Amino acid sequence: MIRLHDKYFKPFLSEKQILGAIQRMAQEIAVDYKDDTPIFVGVLNGAFMFVSDFLKEYPYSCEVSFVKLSSYQGLTSTGIVETLLDVPDNIEGRSIIILEDIIDTGRTLQKLVHLFSNTKVKEFKIASLFYKAEVYNGEYAIDYVGLEIPDKFIVGYGLDYKELGRNLREVYQLNQKYMINLVL
Ligand code: 5GP
Repeated sequence: MIRLHDKYFKPFLSEKQILGAIQRMAQEIAVDYKDDTPIFVGVLNGAFMFVSDFLKEYPYSCEVSFVKLSSYQGLTSTGIVETLLDVPDNIEGRSIIILEDIIDTGRTLQKLVHLFSNTKVKEFKIASLFYKAEVYNGEYAIDYVGLEIPDKFIVGYGLDYKELGRNLREVYQLNQKYMINLVL
């Protein structure tokens, strides 16, 4: 168990499980894009580790770029999705594959789809390392998923709780039982 600020988190996914899922995603995308040079667009801050490990597994020609969006403050989605950076330059006629760390309600994704909807890209696809299928209520189908996870708050491997935990190699899950005990 680890502690970040006032909350406790328990081990949930090992580094091996995460890297295995990323390898599978890279292979799947490689099959679809081997004759193309896609631009992978990482969503900051959470996706930085995922993008780095994913690119090391991607065997063919590709480019990388980033956008910065955020909708979480602490443990709950605020519903506010800020766009801090614009779409990358020179994406006209190119295949864009978004690399998201996690898809929860889908609000961030909706914003991303909107952000790219006015551009003349050849193709627009979404790849998310973690996907909370139970709570997703967006219209856009997720094209590539690393691991489907339950609706529980996680940290590690790029994901934070109030900016802590991003450097952890593994993923941890909020320990709700311990939270209740603390309140009592
Ligand atoms: P959505 O807009 O789909 O509700 O949420 C997506 C964004 O919220 C993610 O990019 C991530 O920043 C944050 N988020 C969603 N679920 C979690 C979670 O379990 N843990 C952490 N640390 N962030 C999350």
